[in-house]
Amino acid sequence: MNYLPLFLALRDKPCLLVGGGEIARRKLELLLRAGARVEIVAPRLAAETLALAQSHGLSVQQRPFEDDDVKGRFLVIAATDDPAVNARVFQVGSEAFTLVNSVDQPDISNAIFPALIDRSPVLIAVSTGGRSPTLARLVRSWIEARLPARLGALADFIGDRRGAVKQALGSIPARQRLWQRAITGSIAEKVYLGDTCGADAEFQALLEGESTAAPAPGLVALIGAGPGDPELLTLKALRLLQEADVVLYDNLVNRQILDYARRDADMVYVGKRRKFHGIRQEGINALLVEHARSGRNVVRLKGGDPFVFGRGGEEIESLADEGLDCIVVPGITAGLGAASYAGIPLTHRQASQSVRFVTGHRQDHLVNLDWPELARPDQTLVIYMGLPGLADILRELIAHGLPADTAAAVVEKATLPDQQVIIGTIADLADKVRNAGVTGPTTAIIGNVVAHRRPPAPPATIPPTPTA
Ligand code: SAH
Repeated sequence: MNYLPLFLALRDKPCLLVGGGEIARRKLELLLRAGARVEIVAPRLAAETLALAQSHGLSVQQRPFEDDDVKGRFLVIAATDDPAVNARVFQVGSEAFTLVNSVDQPDISNAIFPALIDRSPVLIAVSTGGRSPTLARLVRSWIEARLPARLGALADFIGDRRGAVKQALGSIPARQRLWQRAITGSIAEKVYLGDTCGADAEFQALLEGESTAAPAPGLVALIGAGPGDPELLTLKALRLLQEADVVLYDNLVNRQILDYARRDADMVYVGKRRKFHGIRQEGINALLVEHARSGRNVVRLKGGDPFVFGRGGEEIESLADEGLDCIVVPGITAGLGAASYAGIPLTHRQASQSVRFVTGHRQDHLVNLDWPELARPDQTLVIYMGLPGLADILRELIAHGLPADTAAAVVEKATLPDQQVIIGTIADLADKVRNAGVTGPTTAIIGNVVAHRRPPAPPATIPPTPTA
């Protein structure tokens, strides 16, 4: 860490601005926002800078910089277009242990300006240590896009009530619970809408409940985490994940996604692997109920979409039976992720008019599949959990009349950096997959759409064997 981020209390502090051009004016605006007492030294001032200075009654010295100017200053900004002057300001200033910023010249600064998000009293400062102000601004815009516009109002709302809450609630966990509720639930939404009275009424009710009775149950969100790439999360999934007290996640959920949860959230692994079932579905249902009852916001993260081969239906049923609130946030299901990232359109005017999502899970379904329907040539099959039974599935399709030269693909670890796409026909795909040593989760796409594949930048791909 080459810099220590600090927030300076500049109100009424003596500061010096050396320079009078456009860049100086921008810095002046910032200093004035922070309430600094600014003096300006510059031989010439641009009209706008001068006007701004005059409108704030600042002292302006129209002359070159002199070494003595830095004396008694809390912060000095060198914003001239003469590098020698800026360097001199830095030298004199740093010798006097004064904070000096030379605009866009970190090598002659001992303090640098971050890219700033101002939702006062909430402030977010982004810095690349002067390596790339453009990158800092980009990072700022990423963060900016995620913040409620009236976040500052929420911070003030909470700040105004901290004292009262501290008096009313002795227990620290109870206070934390209360604040967590207030900043993520409907109270916050009311503050954002400007309905301070409504927010306050709800807040008082929450406070009374917290100091007397058992807490109200938390909200359970069943969230689709997508097939792997964390950027495929929806904004809603991300927000709820960041608001969760407990996160229950599957083995198919990319661990990078868990990093978006709060640092102090409980992360509970409830994965069920094929063959070895670590925890049974009933156990997961019971955990969801137990955590929600204890008043915590629970996120149940599932790979892909919760309602596509995800047993999400069973989980919402058991929550509803207990009278608990639950919302479901859709995710990108593996079949859609695999198709997009492998460049295979799932429908195509010349090749396929419909798509079927099918489970190839052997014990439960293989024998029961409707083979004559599945073997129709003008549709696309997306097969989940089909790796162990792939050879059998493809053989049945051929036996039920699907032409053996129908194109087919297997996408392993779809949307992840080590995604692998294996292309073939329904006659040879099973052998190719066996030879490729596939280990990760796979989704098969069967149908002539595969021939319309336009791969994006080539990941590890085994090309189709040329047809004779
Ligand atoms: N609810 C999930 C599916 C769960 S069933 C969804 O909507 O995607 C588990 C199956 O999903 C796996 O056997 C595999 O067929 C598929 N799958 C999940 N993640 C995958 C990935 N990253 N790449 C390929 N297939 C995946």
